[in-house]
Amino acid sequence: MDAASGDLAFLPLGGTGEIGMNLNLYRCDGQWLAVDCGIGFGGAEHPEVDVMMADPGFIAERRDKLVGLVITHAHEDHIGAVAWLWPELRCPVYATPFAAAVLRRKLGEVGLVNQVKVHVVAPGGTIDLKPFALRFIRMSHSIPEAQALVLETPYGTILHTGDWKLDPQPLIGPPSDEAALAALGEKGVLAMVCDSTNAMVEGHSGSEAEVRQSLSALIRGLKGRVAVTCFSSNVARMESVALAARDAGRSVAIVGRSLRNMDAAARECGYLKGLPPFLGEDDVDDIADDNLAILVTGSQGEPRSALARIALDTHPRVALGEGDTVIFSSRMIPGNERAIGTVQDNLVRRGVNIMTDADHLVHVSGHPARDELRRLYRLIRPRFSVPVHGEWRHLSAHAELARQAGATTFLMEDGDIVRLGPGRPEIIDSAPVGRLVADGARLVPLKGEVMNARRRMLFNGVVIGSVAFDGGGRLLGRPRISAPGLLDVDDPETDRVTTEFAQLLADLPASLRRDDAALPEAARSALRKALGRRLQKRPLVDIHLLRI
Ligand SMILES: [Zn+2]
Repeated sequence: MDAASGDLAFLPLGGTGEIGMNLNLYRCDGQWLAVDCGIGFGGAEHPEVDVMMADPGFIAERRDKLVGLVITHAHEDHIGAVAWLWPELRCPVYATPFAAAVLRRKLGEVGLVNQVKVHVVAPGGTIDLKPFALRFIRMSHSIPEAQALVLETPYGTILHTGDWKLDPQPLIGPPSDEAALAALGEKGVLAMVCDSTNAMVEGHSGSEAEVRQSLSALIRGLKGRVAVTCFSSNVARMESVALAARDAGRSVAIVGRSLRNMDAAARECGYLKGLPPFLGEDDVDDIADDNLAILVTGSQGEPRSALARIALDTHPRVALGEGDTVIFSSRMIPGNERAIGTVQDNLVRRGVNIMTDADHLVHVSGHPARDELRRLYRLIRPRFSVPVHGEWRHLSAHAELARQAGATTFLMEDGDIVRLGPGRPEIIDSAPVGRLVADGARLVPLKGEVMNARRRMLFNGVVIGSVAFDGGGRLLGRPRISAPGLLDVDDPETDRVTTEFAQLLADLPASLRRDDAALPEAARSALRKALGRRLQKRPLVDIHLLRI
């Protein structure tokens, strides 16, 4: 896995085949570079998981050869794992001013802000991390300061696009720097590692400017309170809502922590300059309903978000009701349909009017649709293409488009190592990959014992039996059983299972009852047997054995 002689290779530890958890590695002449370090969410597939990320074990073992971590932009799936994983990597971090401002807040929350050296690089700036000569190219996306990364190496040039689109009017920051992209293509690009999110969407992703116009017209026509929920990192959208509200004679209050954080990071970097400070949730009741707009977190139906609580009328400060409107200025991330539906149901039940991207132009994607992908391929003309950042069908659709554009494509799974030079590129090896789950304040492997047990407990429950034996192997007293989430304490079934368990224990051979090594497993089987007949389930079973 560590080439004896010089070469250039690419290895995604996360970010291919599923959305989120980006962690890309490049190797040049034995030195490694990491690009992005993000989180993903458990969703419907992993209900036992809230937040997870790529296991960095492979690169952590080689961190003496890791020259740095470059962040392309401040979205959670690109930056969200830095505060979790940096202690494993311990390398310098490079980011634009806005991404650095967001990152510093995250590092501050875990007490790492003074340990991690975050180098601020201007959009379009250069980074010299030998043997890599690195350069940012400004791209438009749905967050300020998204950057593509150019890696110049002795084996050729790579364009790592990050997330991007070709928005002629992104409203915050300049459009994608097509002149720089064209110049790069002119010089020759060996390989392009590129965003696949919307590779199945024909046409163009649309412009943020169209959303601004549409929101402005919509909000002008509304009466009562107007609340808008969007991705909190979409600073241009925040600005659009504020301007639309101003045109409609409404003041804007921000409700929800992540929006407040993003607002602070954006203003720290000089964005939202023309707007007065947003009001807070305490100010909401001082303003007449027709003069109020609220920017609120919770566009994905997150149950603890401000919008979910407002929908249930359990928010301490903000209420919506008959005649008010909520605009969902966001898309439904697959897996969140149900949670969003629940919040919308609760709102509608209260008489709130709902607008979404299904019925109004209130959102555009931040990722390139097929026309934009084709345009980038025409500009860059890479010899090789590696689709990333998508599920398998997106990668596959992207690869087909890349082939039509004349590139040779590599469809990679997380952990595949493709050697890009010298010689003809090929997949040469694979690195171990895994997922780590953020469980409270610690990280545990998704496939490890703790999370396996959690999954079983979630669906089948857990049963713990406590038994005491004396030194001669005699059962003392009556065993106790607790089965939270499965049996009530006063359920008569508990009593019946306990009786059968006691009988099975008493029936064990005397030699086994004296054997400290073998008795716990025998007791566990006995408890399983006693349960199995009653519940017809296979819960997680554990035994506390006391020898008295
Ligand atoms: Zn992004």
